[in-house]
Amino acid sequence: MFIWELLIVVVAGLCFGSFVTMVAHRLPREERMGFSRSRCPSCKTTLAARDLVPLLSWLFSKGRCRQCNAAIGMRYPLIEISTASLFLLVYSQHGLTLPAMPLYLMAVTLMVMVVVDVEHYIIPDVIHVALLSCALAYHVLSGTFDEQVAYGFALAALLGLVLHHGYYALRKRDGLGYGDVKYFAVAGAWLGPLGLVVFLFMIGVFGVMTGLLWRALGRGPEFPFAPALAASLLLCVLWPDLANILRNNGN
Ligand SMILES: [Zn+2]
Repeated sequence: MFIWELLIVVVAGLCFGSFVTMVAHRLPREERMGFSRSRCPSCKTTLAARDLVPLLSWLFSKGRCRQCNAAIGMRYPLIEISTASLFLLVYSQHGLTLPAMPLYLMAVTLMVMVVVDVEHYIIPDVIHVALLSCALAYHVLSGTFDEQVAYGFALAALLGLVLHHGYYALRKRDGLGYGDVKYFAVAGAWLGPLGLVVFLFMIGVFGVMTGLLWRALGRGPEFPFAPALAASLLLCVLWPDLANILRNNGN
């Protein structure tokens, strides 16, 4: 039974990863999300079903378009494997239960957010809406929907606005964008006020790590913030005990 569940999680992760590559390509270009078939970006040939099997198509075609032989970037298998890995993380903590479903959808949304931000340096608003919907669904399904959700949301929004305007007043330029403020509010709804403290601490750590990595890769001083935002939220949601460690050490 366990091995079947694991197989389902991995295959679902790869398929949703394939979905992430499509959405992350179309979302910033404001293309339709409908069921139009994907095309080869190079020769525009409409891809056949056998070209759309996650991971396997890429492996069997050795990373090339079957029509024009153009190289298909590592972007596709990388995103598919990453999404499947996030699904395994969710599974390790919550299994294949009903309350876990919003967590799998959250993982998909975070993947889209990271890919779009790394490639375009934007986080579209629809991401925040999707993450907030997942948060509410998760709290309702797991019986944790209480006033903490509202407190967390309000407190995080307030804190984000103070940081946004405070930074601007001090430095006369944007430090924390409005996109980050919206993300803070969503994170507050997921985590409540106490979890938010751990989340902010982690953002600092992951943010510095991303910045250093970006510089080491020679990509310039401005780095995408979404990987740090996504990793921090996912860790805090999947391992809520992190907040308890903080509370116990404080005593
Ligand atoms: Zn082609």
